[in-house]
Amino acid sequence: MNYFIKKRDLFKLLDKLKKSYEVIAPVKRDIHRYEPIKSADEIDLNFINTTYPLKKWFLPAKGELFNFSGSKISAKTSSKKRILFAVRPCDVNALLRMDKLFLDEYVDSYYKSRRQNTILIALNCSIPGDNCFCTSLGTHKLDKGFDLLLTETKAGYIVQLGSEKGRKLIDTKLFTKTTKIPEIKLKCNKKLTKSDVLKLKVSFYHSIWKDEAENCLSCGACTMTCPTCGCFRIVDSPCITINCGSRNREWTSCQLKNFTVVAGGHSFREDRAARLKNRIYHQLEYFKDKFGINMCVGCGRCITNCPTKIDMTQILKSL
Ligand code: SF4
Ligand code: SF4
Repeated sequence: MNYFIKKRDLFKLLDKLKKSYEVIAPVKRDIHRYEPIKSADEIDLNFINTTYPLKKWFLPAKGELFNFSGSKISAKTSSKKRILFAVRPCDVNALLRMDKLFLDEYVDSYYKSRRQNTILIALNCSIPGDNCFCTSLGTHKLDKGFDLLLTETKAGYIVQLGSEKGRKLIDTKLFTKTTKIPEIKLKCNKKLTKSDVLKLKVSFYHSIWKDEAENCLSCGACTMTCPTCGCFRIVDSPCITINCGSRNREWTSCQLKNFTVVAGGHSFREDRAARLKNRIYHQLEYFKDKFGINMCVGCGRCITNCPTKIDMTQILKSL
């Protein structure tokens, strides 16, 4: 059984939930971004996907893990209750990939507390962006990972339940029951076929990596805006007396030259071609070898945000 809610009632519900949760939703500033809202009137749902992904709400770009003073240590886990509203299916699928990294083999308590305290209200897409290729990877639709899933109709939204947390949000004064099952008819222009991806198996030494790397600036924009890239570095900041200080975590990128520098100064991926190749193999082969699913969810951000428009789908097609 699904539910139906009118748009104005959905916004009424969000305003009510704001009393108990921090509600983070898409708003239009210079660009569309997910930000904490003061009122549901700020929400702008006229977006395809946002430039910045949602990972920062679970893995902040820069953040303190703990600080110490003498023998007293304070960890900075978060217990803030949040609702992330209007999350696109590719971004929900991206969080399921991040869970593999941060909850599977090694449990990251900082990530875990944020995940456990966040309710995800997902929103199906009706129009793909120019660089989306989620339909090739099956990440444009959801059967798990959300608490509520909304699909827009002319009259309002069909609402599917994904969890007990989602069920508790169903206020019977605002929702009505419906037998309607939403249909997802998304068609992306950009495609990535299985045979394109399979070419990676025999292309490690192909000259294309060197050619493509000629256009790569090693800026890291592709990985910073990728919803599934989760690499970070640890930075310790001791105070001058060394009996106090903090340990901090910051995002980093495999596209940066110093990413693989080890003690003694050796860099394992000294040249841009090796770094570009590593990113694409990691997204489409290495992660799958380890976890059984592609790391890439086809959101297209790495293409859109690359200053020289390096496009992994085109690279694979040219192999
Ligand atoms: S590799 Fe590119 S298309 Fe794939 S998830 Fe990351 S940003 Fe999106
Ligand atoms: S965004 Fe483009 S130019 Fe920058 S590191 Fe990535 S592939 Fe290279």
